[in-house]
Amino acid sequence: MRARLVAGNWKMHGSLAANAALLDTLVAAGVECVVCVPFPYLAQAAERLKGTRVALGAQNLSEHASGAYTGEVSATMLGECGCRYVLVGHSERRQLYGESDETVAAKFAAARNGGITPILCVGEALPEREAARTQEVVARQLDAVLARSGVGDAVVAYEPVWAIGTGRTATPQQAQEVHAFLRQRVTAATRILYGGSVKADNAAAIFAQPDVDGGLIGGASLKAQEFIAICKAAERKG
Ligand code: PEP
Repeated sequence: MRARLVAGNWKMHGSLAANAALLDTLVAAGVECVVCVPFPYLAQAAERLKGTRVALGAQNLSEHASGAYTGEVSATMLGECGCRYVLVGHSERRQLYGESDETVAAKFAAARNGGITPILCVGEALPEREAARTQEVVARQLDAVLARSGVGDAVVAYEPVWAIGTGRTATPQQAQEVHAFLRQRVTAATRILYGGSVKADNAAAIFAQPDVDGGLIGGASLKAQEFIAICKAAERKG
C-alpha cells in the first residue's frame, strides 16, 4: 500500500509573517504533508517544522552539483537547508523558463544524487488534450527521466496544464485514466499525485481514484484551513 502524500506549492508567494502563521497552523493541525517554499524562506520553514509531520521541499534546483552557475541552488544545498523534496519540471518552469525534457531529467538525477526526493511534474497543455495527445506528451516527459535514471522512490505529479491555477479541475475519471497510464511505466511503489485546481471540495473525489496517491496543491496550499482539509481528505482514503 503506497503512503499518500499531499504537497503544497507556494510558488512565489509568502512573507516572513504570513509564512509563520501558515506553518504554525499546519503544525498545530497535526496533518502530514510537504510544503515547497521559495528559497529564501527555507531556513525559516526548516526551523519551524523541525520534529513535526510537515516536511520541507523546494520548487526548483540546479542540474549541476556545484560551480560557476550564478543564481543557481544545488541539491546538496537544499539538503543542508532541511529539504526532503524538490519539485522538478513544473509546467511553469517548462513554459516560462524553457526547461526541456532533458534539463528536467538532469535536474531529477541531480536531486536523487543529492539525496532529495524529486516530485516530477508532467502534464499536457489544452491543445494537446484536445488533439488526443495526452498520453504521448506525458509518456515523452516521463520517459526522458526514465532514460536517464530510474524513478525509484521518487514521486510523479500529473498536472494537466489547463487545470493549473484556472479553477478547471480534471474530472476524477480523467485523472484516473492518465494515472493508470503512468502507473504502467513506473514501479508499484511510485506515488502519483494529481495537481490542478484541487480544493477542499473536490479533493476527496479525486483522491478516491485507485491510482491517485495524493495531490500537488498550488493556490489552495496558501490557505491554511483549505490545505488542512485537503490533507485530511487524503488521510481518509483507505
Ligand atoms: C501547481 O502549481 O502545481 C498547482 C497545481 O496549482 P493550482 O492548485 O493552483 O492549480
